[in-house]
Amino acid sequence: MQEQNQNIGKIIKVAGPLVVAVGLPEAKMYEVVKVGEEKLIGEVIRIERGEVFIQVYEETSGIGPGERVYLTGNPLTVELGPGLLSNIYDGIQRPLKVLVQKAGNFITRGIEAEALDNKKKWHFKPQKKEGEKVEAGDVLVKETEILSHKVMVPPFIEKGTLSFVAKQGDYTISDVIAKIKHKDREEEIRLSHKWPIRQPRPVNKKLLPNKGLVTGQRVIDTFFPMAKGGAGCVPGPFGSGKTVVQHQLAKWADADIIVFVGCGERGNEMTDLLMEFPELKDPKTGKPLMQRTVLIANTSNMPVAAREASVYTGITIGEYFRDMGYSVALLADSTSRWAEALREISGRLEEMPGDEGYPAYLGSRTAAFYERAGFAECLGQPQRQGFLTVIGAVSPPGGDLSEPVTQNTLRVTKVFWALDSTLAYKRHFPAINWLTSYSLYDENLQDFLDKEGGKAFGDFKTEAIGVLQKEAELEEIVRLVGVEALSLNDQFLLEIARIIREDFLHQNAFREIDTYTSLKKQYLMLKAILKVFEKGKEAIEKGRGMGEILSASLKEKLSKMKYIPEDKLEQFELLNKEIDKI
Ligand code: ADP
Repeated sequence: MQEQNQNIGKIIKVAGPLVVAVGLPEAKMYEVVKVGEEKLIGEVIRIERGEVFIQVYEETSGIGPGERVYLTGNPLTVELGPGLLSNIYDGIQRPLKVLVQKAGNFITRGIEAEALDNKKKWHFKPQKKEGEKVEAGDVLVKETEILSHKVMVPPFIEKGTLSFVAKQGDYTISDVIAKIKHKDREEEIRLSHKWPIRQPRPVNKKLLPNKGLVTGQRVIDTFFPMAKGGAGCVPGPFGSGKTVVQHQLAKWADADIIVFVGCGERGNEMTDLLMEFPELKDPKTGKPLMQRTVLIANTSNMPVAAREASVYTGITIGEYFRDMGYSVALLADSTSRWAEALREISGRLEEMPGDEGYPAYLGSRTAAFYERAGFAECLGQPQRQGFLTVIGAVSPPGGDLSEPVTQNTLRVTKVFWALDSTLAYKRHFPAINWLTSYSLYDENLQDFLDKEGGKAFGDFKTEAIGVLQKEAELEEIVRLVGVEALSLNDQFLLEIARIIREDFLHQNAFREIDTYTSLKKQYLMLKAILKVFEKGKEAIEKGRGMGEILSASLKEKLSKMKYIPEDKLEQFELLNKEIDKI
């Protein structure tokens, strides 16, 4: 009786999502607690002088002092196993479908729902035998039609010997499929296991990201490439084409698995996501994209605190698939909402505020999140490498990039795709600003791009960006005195800049032939444009005029380059012959 009492405390204060309780001497940091008679889910975030501060993941109205709080003894975990894919979860991994079945469209509080379907059977084919020593033994279960799910020895068992392996057959996630003797104990292994969301899953070692995450989006792959296992930041002012960019990445990025974390603020943002995502088709297989996707959506009736947990839920799921040796892309939209949740909780804790009211630890939390991205050598046998690429959207108020969330994110991410509402207004899509965006993976990816695209890809890219920068400088002069005042060389450069923008960077996501461009084709396109540039400059030296250099027919051919089919890239030879004639 005495012991049980230690696990039941009493609320002394409720302030929004923050509840303070006493009488819990056993409480540990980040332990999950159940709050009130409705048993709302919360997490211990501070213990001070016998007072336990709890962040509650559900609406706390109606809960008051005197009510009970129950310790669970466990940290906040996610359940990892077959059945994750195709699912839509809330911030603490409750499947929305099950919540709706249990409670209707208005989710009531304190509902518990199993994260994975424990009735569904999965075909299990053992890869290891009894008596074998294991570290991370791979046994296979086919999950959706397109992906093998590898059941691994969970990382919390370092080494052991298999004392039992189930026969090949169909099992649910709660059936024991193996037993491992380790540290004098026998641990039962099921198809799924739990992992605390705030603890990064271990890997053997992290490697330098040196493979490109090809997205088929020209401005991204050529100008500001992302590495597989890299981290990036994309601001999304309203109407700048953020949703389209995210959909394009989800569809086309060279990733086996997509984890999408939506911490939308407005209800309709989430609704859009929930309506649109399940409709998307995977262009590679023709099957629904959801088959290789896990969606995490914070429902609008969950308080801000749940957003705080959702990014960790998402990244832990991402790490789990990375551990299998897959390439995972995690898209988080938007991390500003997550930071706002931190700010709100910090305010309730009466902590000393930093910049714009955000807690002083915003920077370290942001870094800790993005550091979970990476290209890794996974634990265990067979040897494999996995990638977890993290792309976080930020929504700086008023588009002001100097605000703390953006700045802290830029400090730890290496790619910045600056979506720009001015460009979107001019209908230049994707509206990624070429003057302010950058990728610090450039150097690491040089070899990759040369190999997959073509020789000296990097030099072409540098030259093209140089032309656009020069264009920006000249624009000022043009505005003052007109194009005619420029030298012929500069006028020609402006023409080339226009061609780079319109014929290369513009990419229509809704046109089948234009929505995806291979690296080879991106290379050929850019090379052709820069060849015109070189030839043209020579011709100007010889005293020829613009009209002669850029004939109407050549201009038209350049503008149609993007419509050359991927299987007819030899057509570029014809184009090059024409350019040679300049
Ligand atoms: P946001 O999510 O930033 O508010 P959207 O992604 O919905 O903006 O984009 C707004 C509109 O811009 C889209 O409906 C579409 O018409 C256009 N758009 C955005 N990106 C592209 C693109 N790559 N190709 C063609 N049109 C685009």
